[in-house]
Amino acid sequence: MRILLVEDEEKVSRFIMRGLVDERFAVDVAHDGISGLEFATTYPYDLIILDLMLPGLSGTEVLHRIRIINDQVPILILTARDAVADKVKNFEAGADDYLTKPFAFAELLVRAKALLRRGAVSRASLLRVADLELNRLSQQVRRAGQRIELTAKEYALLEYLMANAGRVLSRTMIIEHVWDQSFDGVTNIVDVYVRHLRNKVDDKHERKLIRTVRGVGYTITDEEGG
Ligand code: CA
Repeated sequence: MRILLVEDEEKVSRFIMRGLVDERFAVDVAHDGISGLEFATTYPYDLIILDLMLPGLSGTEVLHRIRIINDQVPILILTARDAVADKVKNFEAGADDYLTKPFAFAELLVRAKALLRRGAVSRASLLRVADLELNRLSQQVRRAGQRIELTAKEYALLEYLMANAGRVLSRTMIIEHVWDQSFDGVTNIVDVYVRHLRNKVDDKHERKLIRTVRGVGYTITDEEGG
């Protein structure tokens, strides 16, 4: 697993790099936005950890330019700013997760591993599984051309399933992705929401797309069986 770390503060980058190398990751470090972008667009990385306040080119700009040519690599943003508006802006620009400085290395590692486990996800604006369509721009969902009304959480869950169509997602992965990281409720919340989704997406149709993988979690697929 190869990780790119873009961080201009020497102390912080050394501290993160040591920790990641101890965890047996291969790590490249860039100390400014321009070389960060160059690395990111030259080598294949499994994860990019990107500071926002960078000399040369801001982290937000780096993020934006990476996404133009690579919409798949997971990107974890580091920042001292924790304003909600910044978070929203960067999530819209294609960040996958966010960590506010200062943070414990253990926290960074948990986030990094979650993103690596999830892997590259599709960022296409139209997701399609059989006759089910989800438009990420209009946030509309249709099955066989018929509009389906979903709540915000149902939509987030369906989007996550569809962006990972064919992959089995565990309840933990789903909670980490769709609910807040700090969500500590019961895991059957996932089952409850999948039931709601099935009711809206599958029940009226002969062909069922949302599948339960016993003992593991859920997947959405148009393949027969399961
Ligand atoms: Ca910085």
